[in-house]
Amino acid sequence: MSTAISNPLALIAELTHRCPLHCVYCSNPLELQNRANELTTETWSRIFREAAELGVLQADLTGGEPLARTDILELVRAARAAGLYVNLITSGMPLDEARLAKLMEAGLDHLQLSFQGTTEEIAADISGTKSHAQKLRVLEWLKRVRVAVTLNFVIHRNNIDQIEQMLALAESSSTTRVEFANVQYYGWAFANRERLLPTHAQLDRSIETLKSAQERLRGKIRVEYVVPDYYAKYPKPCMGGWGRKLMLITPTGEALPCHAAQIIPGLQLPPSKNFAAKTGCKNPAKPATAASKISAVAAAKPCSSPATQPLPIPSAR
Ligand code: SF4
Repeated sequence: MSTAISNPLALIAELTHRCPLHCVYCSNPLELQNRANELTTETWSRIFREAAELGVLQADLTGGEPLARTDILELVRAARAAGLYVNLITSGMPLDEARLAKLMEAGLDHLQLSFQGTTEEIAADISGTKSHAQKLRVLEWLKRVRVAVTLNFVIHRNNIDQIEQMLALAESSSTTRVEFANVQYYGWAFANRERLLPTHAQLDRSIETLKSAQERLRGKIRVEYVVPDYYAKYPKPCMGGWGRKLMLITPTGEALPCHAAQIIPGLQLPPSKNFAAKTGCKNPAKPATAASKISAVAAAKPCSSPATQPLPIPSAR
């Protein structure tokens, strides 16, 4: 039996944990890294080149908020120069039309804009910041540039009944793809899951709506959705199977097979300055068992009671 591992196709580059928003479902780890520990422009540029040499086709520049990096234009340029398709995954917060134009000049191919809901009230409730009006402005600017656009709605108990309005927002924009990603309960979301997890009835209603939207918008907008593992018939393969499609580099340079791998007890992550030796493609880290994954999640910070305590929120400097 062959033990060869194919190269991942996409590199998720977590450029920073810093973000102007503080979403209670953020997939950042509970221990956030500060700016001083982030990889430099030069190191990321080398990572992009080495990733391309390994066969990676796409760089997903994410965070935290990747636009919090003052060198974001250089990083987009470097990823493009390495021959990668460049996707910026952003909240749209530290952005204006002039900066968007500069990102386009630097070689941006695709922009994914995340939404917390369809009203300022829900967005502020989830992220602790008024951000919805700015996101609507970004949607207008995106209509005026040649860039592929994905809208990402993170779905939870308080916005799952707004899916029709979310679809209407997508249809009024230049997007050709919209993701309805139910919160996945790791990290901050696990800590806040009592408040975020929709009911089974809410989820069933939303899936009916999304299925009929997929039919109605076929050929115009691709509608995708992810259900929470809690209600899935079977747990989904993490990241579509470790290292098969994607790999992730953290702001400080750890190479991971998925967003949450660092909380898996006993997982040895190879400490290295050399990207190729850290990818898991040539020197795979010993995979954790399903049981150890479950115990890792169970050992994470227990859920706070929304009635009596402020929700834990992510915040990095
Ligand atoms: S989930 Fe919210 S807080 Fe976390 S990186 Fe995205 S926008 Fe920022």
